[in-house]
Amino acid sequence: MRLISVLFISLSLAACATEPQSDSADIVIWGGRIHTGLDQPSPEAIAIDQGRIVFVGARAAAQRRVGADTRVIDLRGAALYPGFVDAHAHLLGIGQRELTLNLEGVASLAAMLARVRERVAVTPPGEIIWGRGWIETHWPEARFPTRADLDSVAPDHPVLLVRADGHALVANSAALQRAGVSAATAPPDGGEILRDAARAPTGMLIDAAMDLVAELAPRETPEEIERALRVGLEVYRARGWTAIHNMSVSWAEVEALERLDTEGALPLRVYNAVTPENLDLLLTGGVRKSASGRLETRAVKFYMDGALGSRGAALFEPYADAPETRGLEQMNRDAVLPLWEQALRNGVQIATHAIGDRGNAMALDWYAATFDAVPRSERAVAEPRWRIEHAQIVRPVDLPRFAELGVIASMQPSHAISDLHFAPSRLGDARLDGAYAWRRMIEEGAALAAGSDAPVEKGDPLIEFYAATARRDLNGFQGSNWRAADAVDRTQALRMLTYWPAYAAFAETERGVIAEGMRADLSIFSVDLMSAPLADIPRGRALATIVDGEIIYRAADW
Ligand SMILES: [Zn+2]
Repeated sequence: MRLISVLFISLSLAACATEPQSDSADIVIWGGRIHTGLDQPSPEAIAIDQGRIVFVGARAAAQRRVGADTRVIDLRGAALYPGFVDAHAHLLGIGQRELTLNLEGVASLAAMLARVRERVAVTPPGEIIWGRGWIETHWPEARFPTRADLDSVAPDHPVLLVRADGHALVANSAALQRAGVSAATAPPDGGEILRDAARAPTGMLIDAAMDLVAELAPRETPEEIERALRVGLEVYRARGWTAIHNMSVSWAEVEALERLDTEGALPLRVYNAVTPENLDLLLTGGVRKSASGRLETRAVKFYMDGALGSRGAALFEPYADAPETRGLEQMNRDAVLPLWEQALRNGVQIATHAIGDRGNAMALDWYAATFDAVPRSERAVAEPRWRIEHAQIVRPVDLPRFAELGVIASMQPSHAISDLHFAPSRLGDARLDGAYAWRRMIEEGAALAAGSDAPVEKGDPLIEFYAATARRDLNGFQGSNWRAADAVDRTQALRMLTYWPAYAAFAETERGVIAEGMRADLSIFSVDLMSAPLADIPRGRALATIVDGEIIYRAADW
């Protein structure tokens, strides 16, 4: 029997011998819309071999690449895209959100308390419960939660729930007591303890006041970091992301990712921007790119200002709803510029968090001064491609400076559809002109890499695409002054989530579009983003994710 089948195989190979064997591909994909990200008609099929796209074109021609070992993926009406990349997110936080009580999307205070009650029921008394992801801005109760709310469902467990933006938390009485926070506790600099009429803490701790309960936080051992990263990677591959630009990364996290990469446990690409204290390690040790090509540590993230929700974003004029403040500056020019000059000489990419119009103008000014100070001949790379993270509120006069300086705008579409509920009251109407101004940023010639800032937002490529094109919240609400004209078209949105993030990671010759010779990083979604009604887009889902021609995720039912 065995001999016969061997003979049969030899015969069938001989029958195909007119076609050279090397033409047979590892994977052929057809049967649905293929959006290449290039200005060309959609092809019918692609073929992948040894991690690269080797053919883009007609199905009949692709048929000739199908050999005995070729895996044929029939899209069955789904749509194929260049690999989606989250250009700003926090992988560790994404994993930690899953491992703690994940409150992302809870629609009311009552719903949040129900979730806490469920967790309490399965947690030994006295054990600390951490949660993250709530945001009260569209709750029917329309107020912050309090310790009394939490005490009603968790009298015996310390409970601490961090707001989605990471700039505030609510603690119950047991948690405040264990951390020693009482009516007598003074708030630290840069923090606030909200108090009731009797001057007792309500449970809400803002910004630096969260440090008062830091001792209750779980210890971040290398094992726990690794566990959270694995969970974050699981979540992200199942959402269709092929890569993440991982922001504000500690060195312990870099090492954990390097361990995962070495053991082949890094499904998607991770491009790290480390915290400023690690700049020295990159300057002395050089930028780090792993042999697998999936892990790269090349950037350093700095903070120019704070966030808009907590009025930390640095503005030129006072806040419309708090005339006593213009926000916070977090950096000193004289201290930072020498560091940035060294970074420029050594090919380290700088990514600076800037949210307010003053924060953004300062970042642009300081980048310009650094570029002037280091001649091109003394730079490790001619085009530094430095980035501003968020670039949220920018004076219209500063918009053209991104392109002029070659600075990448790294923006989060979902922030605009979350912030539309409070940004108008913070900024007043005039300053909304230049806020979340994606379309004009692109029209001025800037490279615009889009991300989610998860775990601040959900971290879903379809929500980001929807937010960029609809500029409405998930209920379709927009608000009267929310500058609808700054929504982008679908082609621009696709570029923001594929090509420009590749460019921001110096990889646009390898990834970012579907073309022959490019790495096979691909996302398959159930919806056709280029033609579906916008409201249907967030209801779609990822069906498969491919990195380097390896299928790193496939939906169980597809
Ligand atoms: Zn962030």
